[in-house]
Amino acid sequence: LGRNPGEAEFHQAVREVLSSLGPVVQKHPDYVDAAVIRRLCEPERQIIFRVPWIDDSGQVQINRGFRVEFNSALGPYKGGLRFHPSVYLGIVKFLGFEQIFKNSLSGMPIGGGKGGSDFNPKGRSDMEIMRFCQSFMIELHRHIGEYTDVPAGDTGVGQREIGFLFGQYKRVTNRYESGVLTGKGIHWGGSLVRTEATGYGTVFFTEEMLKANKESFDGKRVVVSGSGNVALYAIEKVKQLGGTVVACSDSSGYVVDENGVDFDLLREIKERRRGRISEYAEEKNVPFSSTGSVWDVPCEIALPCATQNEINEEQALTLIKNGCRYVAEGANMPSTPEAIERFREAGIHFAPGKAANAGGVATSALEMQQNASRDTWSFGFTEDRLGQIMRGIHQRCLETADEYGKPDDYVAGANIAGFIKVADAMLALGVV
Ligand code: NDP
Repeated sequence: LGRNPGEAEFHQAVREVLSSLGPVVQKHPDYVDAAVIRRLCEPERQIIFRVPWIDDSGQVQINRGFRVEFNSALGPYKGGLRFHPSVYLGIVKFLGFEQIFKNSLSGMPIGGGKGGSDFNPKGRSDMEIMRFCQSFMIELHRHIGEYTDVPAGDTGVGQREIGFLFGQYKRVTNRYESGVLTGKGIHWGGSLVRTEATGYGTVFFTEEMLKANKESFDGKRVVVSGSGNVALYAIEKVKQLGGTVVACSDSSGYVVDENGVDFDLLREIKERRRGRISEYAEEKNVPFSSTGSVWDVPCEIALPCATQNEINEEQALTLIKNGCRYVAEGANMPSTPEAIERFREAGIHFAPGKAANAGGVATSALEMQQNASRDTWSFGFTEDRLGQIMRGIHQRCLETADEYGKPDDYVAGANIAGFIKVADAMLALGVV
């Protein structure tokens, strides 16, 4: 870790994975001999570039762009782009590292990568977003391609941004290469269910956790953090499966709606108006709080779907005290290591993001399949595939955890199962 000073989130993600691998390297000394873990921790390629663009007032703005191509043992690099002011190399590397194991666990033939920029899309006009995306792609296009590296969306990058990025890629390369980006609109190469996939997938995974304990969503109180892409569709699916989402949030606060969060209104506010969660509270006349935490709201199931390190030790203890029994991470690394430890001690059923939120990237891989075959699949067919994939991931986690003497430990199961597949491919491909 001394090779990567100041990259706290990357260190955290690496420690989390390596802490599960003791029993694996004992069983497979060949991984150590071939320096598989050391190679895995070093990205295959890291690109950092200037993104100059002109804002609506004619001022030149400069942002920094990143693409970290972490590991391509299983397939082309695959992972989203994040546009958020907090983005720096340590965040992109933590996300790229996680992505390697998540993608492996998904069972799809995709490697791991991640990218983004410290650009803040909040409050920017559509034209500013377009100019930024075009400038970003002028550099990025040299590094990506259907067989090389296939970016998608993440925080701050939705279908609008993917559209501007794809348009510029098409223009500068003179290729209608649908498979170069995923998260596209349905009429220009996108897949049905991709928008919903991460949220739905997280809830499908949670349903499997519940089933493993002979329970269901029926009548359960659920708290979801965030109100972005992942949170929104997690909220919709929980309701469809009989649960009640009593609270959700954004970075300015949280709302509590004891009757169950109204998905249609929330979607209208967040997707169409690009508004704030406080507008939901005003329109529904329900409490909004800008102090405290959404995790203060009592629930049986917590689905953190906002951002990294959003559940700390104290919030974990509050959740436990209030009777929470299941936590499934829709976001990437939303629980701190201390929070995970408290969950473990309290016997909470805890699913890490690399397992629970893998439905998004898995559906991106389904989008790539449709692009490659120039086909489009129906919503029902694609959602069924997503459901099968999430059930498969759940089963792989539990079976692997059992095999390595960690029954019911989804963290160990996900890390070990994700690792072994990549490690075996790396051994087979030689020292490259
Ligand atoms: P969005 O940008 O659509 O939504 C993020 C949501 O989280 C917003 O409501 C945002 O509020 C809120 N948020 C951000 N920071 C904080 C904070 N510090 N405290 C409280 N709320 C906060 O992003 P996504 O939904 O796409 O992504 C959410 C998470 O899921 C990320 O960790 C991402 O990496 C992960 N993920 C996403 C996938 C996808 O397919 N989109 C796939 C797999 C993982 P505000 O609007 O106020 O900033």
